[in-house]
Amino acid sequence: MTTRCTASLDGQLWCGPYVAWEEVIPLTLHLQTACFIAIAYLSGMRPGEALNLERGCHRINPSTKLHELHGTTWKNARTPDDAKDPEGQPRRNPWIVHPLAGKAVEVLEQVHTSELLFPKTLRPKPLRGTNGRSDARAGTGQTAAKMTTDIESFIGWVNDYCVRHQRNDRIPEDADGRITANRFRRTLAWHIVRRPRGLVAAVIQYNHISTLVTQGYSGNYHSGFPNELAMERWLERIERLTDIDRYLESGGHVSGPAAEELRERTQQAASKFQGRVLPTRRQAENLLNDPSLQVFKGDGLHCVFDKTTALCTKNEDAPNLGRCHSTCGNIARTDADILEVKAALDRLPQDRFAPPIRHHRAQQVAEHLTGIITSHEYRDR
Ligand code: SF4
Repeated sequence: MTTRCTASLDGQLWCGPYVAWEEVIPLTLHLQTACFIAIAYLSGMRPGEALNLERGCHRINPSTKLHELHGTTWKNARTPDDAKDPEGQPRRNPWIVHPLAGKAVEVLEQVHTSELLFPKTLRPKPLRGTNGRSDARAGTGQTAAKMTTDIESFIGWVNDYCVRHQRNDRIPEDADGRITANRFRRTLAWHIVRRPRGLVAAVIQYNHISTLVTQGYSGNYHSGFPNELAMERWLERIERLTDIDRYLESGGHVSGPAAEELRERTQQAASKFQGRVLPTRRQAENLLNDPSLQVFKGDGLHCVFDKTTALCTKNEDAPNLGRCHSTCGNIARTDADILEVKAALDRLPQDRFAPPIRHHRAQQVAEHLTGIITSHEYRDR
């Protein structure tokens, strides 16, 4: 190719300076797969929905400024004679997506001229000796099974690239087996609910995505994604209470004004839900409102939520953990929470020569955190 490569990775050209002609189609195929991963993962779409997106599906809503993907739905799609519509129908509510998913659509629109964003082939013309099909859609789209093979090959390419460039950020083997196109949907729900800690960027991104996708569906359950989230929330809540139950059973100590309430709710939840077969997603949504399950993990604390005494909210039915007040009566702490408080104490700046206001503030926070630790380790026992 005569066009120079310009994209860089960690300040170095990712390849180059030119791409060999015979590498263009294989590399474009990997780019297409990467775009599929970005779209499927960041939108929570079903693989079939992502694979049927068409050119021009990405729009920015002029009033909300949100990024929308417009697509086709087959669920409940009927023709005027009330028969099942094999062509599907335009989805009433678009998916609201992270801007990166919109960027992936723009990339796909530049790499080929097909109507479908994920065509079966990226070659610009039919191979010699074969006749092009007259219908634009039938048989021209990528299938979910082929996408799974492409994902495998994309992972192989990334790992091979890492070896060739002595990088250590290769994609590891997955303990749960092959990465199928279907798995992205569940993975997004898992990450939104569990908010991986440690990676600040990831926490911010998942908060952002969570707001976007929930905003986008605003009560529309056609996509099924809110159900996916409800199921994940239910699993996460049950797993957490099971962990606390095990901790208490083994003599674990809890401190804080809501310590007793945490013990009671854990006991109630254990007797109500232990051994219970996983409910359907709809049931999960209803069960999430059970009073015994209103326990949320915050930074260095558990929020045993009671709306009447909450200091972060007056009207919401869930805590606003980002605005947690240290004097709230809904706080309970386990040993694991105290470890987080100790880590926060260690992270405080120790700069004695800092401006007096900053130094004084750091001292106040340190005293507060030390008080929490002392109270847990000595006074509340
Ligand atoms: S202030 Fe903190 S502990 Fe109190 S309800 Fe809100 S999040 Fe929970």
